[in-house]
Amino acid sequence: MALRIVEEAGLTDVGRQRHANEDAYYDSPPIFAVADGMGGARAGEVASRIAVEAFEQARDESAAPEDQLAQIARAANRRIYELAQEDEERAGMGTTLTAIMLAGDEIAIGHVGDSRAYRLRGDQLERLTQDHSLVEELVRQGKLTSEQAEMHPQRSIITRALGPEPEVDVETLTYPARAGDVYLLCSDGLTGMVPEERVAEILRARSSLRQAAEALVAEANERGGRDNITVVLFRLGSDDGADPGADAHVLQDTAMLGAAPSATPAGPEPRARRRTGRAVVGGAVALAAVAAVLAGLWIGSRQFWFVGADQGRVSLYRGLPYELPLGIKLYSEEYRSSVPSLSLPGLQRRRVLDHQLRGRSDAVDLVRSLERAYAS
Ligand code: CA
Repeated sequence: MALRIVEEAGLTDVGRQRHANEDAYYDSPPIFAVADGMGGARAGEVASRIAVEAFEQARDESAAPEDQLAQIARAANRRIYELAQEDEERAGMGTTLTAIMLAGDEIAIGHVGDSRAYRLRGDQLERLTQDHSLVEELVRQGKLTSEQAEMHPQRSIITRALGPEPEVDVETLTYPARAGDVYLLCSDGLTGMVPEERVAEILRARSSLRQAAEALVAEANERGGRDNITVVLFRLGSDDGADPGADAHVLQDTAMLGAAPSATPAGPEPRARRRTGRAVVGGAVALAAVAAVLAGLWIGSRQFWFVGADQGRVSLYRGLPYELPLGIKLYSEEYRSSVPSLSLPGLQRRRVLDHQLRGRSDAVDLVRSLERAYAS
């Protein structure tokens, strides 16, 4: 029984605190994707757009679905990397990419970074991807609980992205699909603001996927909208006309009236196949893993800015105010003003020198306001 896409909706929103939207999405059956870009001077927008535009190129349809997605992701990676090399303003730009392709009665996923794929089957919402993030690495190592990870100040540091390196390791997965399944792709602007239980509630209560997409974005904004929010939803039906998901809201209504809720699937779920390039064993892998975490830490740190002093002058830094062993700095000086740090009144001086992490525009505004105050 072949499955087909019977309903879809995509929505992206700048959120409440950012000035630009660095997310992008692609929704052209049988492929859907979300990309969340990062990098100063609008480079994040460029990176995420390149990632989704890569799906418009001809793809090798004779290849396995996972391989098709990985090839597209690798092509996008090369393009972003090359562009970043050519243009200093775009140095270090990158993007996440999480893509789903329906193929027969399976869905294939290609995944890099911390955007996510979920599946609602019956009443059960299940996450299909693991974040390539520092906190999720720490959860896997047992050093953080998932509750701690959700609140962790460094939760947006990712360990894999398209763009920063000439080659990227694309994680690919395949899951068996069913008529009635609803799939959600989203950026961390949704999952960083809205708990999974609430996402599930909104999806279960939907009247349509369009309405659900709008409700998810509205919920993230009501909870602060600290980041760009992107959601892509699609629902599967079967070729023989069976479309169990079309009744989802009716089932929901009857459940609310006290009837039995729609059944959750019985029996063990066939395990998803996980394939990555990490099959080698030994010390080289451990070393490579450490290098990857350090590289990822550095990449992720590029989205933070802080203000400090260099040679007695108020300065603007990009990165995190830490130095790793071997003298690896997680920050770089982007600008040194002519404002002597000692010219600032005590309280303000502490505010300037406290290395508080800020967004780029916030940090730039602070330095500019100090310059204006010093000039007057
Ligand atoms: Ca984001």
